[in-house]
Amino acid sequence: MADDRPHILLVEDELHLARGICFNLEQEGYRVSHVESGEEALDKLQYDRFALIILDVMLPGRDGFAVCREVRQLDVRVPILMLTARADEGDRITGLASGADDYLIKPFNLPEFLLRVRGMLRRSSWYRPEPVDEAYRFGENEVHLLSYHARTPQGEIDLTELEVKMLALFFQREGETIPRKTLLESVWGYTSDTETRTLDNFIVRIRKYFEPDPTQPVYFQTVRGVGYRFSRKAGTGDQ
Ligand code: CA
Repeated sequence: MADDRPHILLVEDELHLARGICFNLEQEGYRVSHVESGEEALDKLQYDRFALIILDVMLPGRDGFAVCREVRQLDVRVPILMLTARADEGDRITGLASGADDYLIKPFNLPEFLLRVRGMLRRSSWYRPEPVDEAYRFGENEVHLLSYHARTPQGEIDLTELEVKMLALFFQREGETIPRKTLLESVWGYTSDTETRTLDNFIVRIRKYFEPDPTQPVYFQTVRGVGYRFSRKAGTGDQ
């Protein structure tokens, strides 16, 4: 019988914590594979596909950041949740720059962890890609949401699952200011008013792909105190 439970890969060397995580994810109806190092995780990715990867930063051998970059070479789309022991802003930025989609600071509480996992695995009901993979163009960029691919003046880019979710929302609501809360709910499945810099760091990544000058964004604009606005015609936001 085919096992259609979402398959999660957990990369965590602290066995006590890993056992607890596995137990609880399995209780929630997920299938979990657990490995203790980045090397083993990369081996697994050679022949298996996962719905989500949960990746600890502090690992023996290569750290979580290095592993994350290598995972992205093998599987561009898979959502990656990083676990970091340090409440260090630098770590979170490094994590997101390495290709992770979100992070959780240890020690975390179980309900929050499970909400985060559920959110990242959720198939968004609002996101229904066009049956034909038409290019969405702005400036010198061309984005194909269905094939998770973009062409930019800097070259070809493969997009992650969460990047596609975010871009689809921006394109659908072009010209509108989208509140932070809406973005966090739609892309990451956050249900509460969690204070997080994930969104802002993610926008930094998107700007690096598509903005002629990421420090002076013209397409992905900040609307201070509210959220972000996408405009296909270059304009200026509040900053
Ligand atoms: Ca660890």
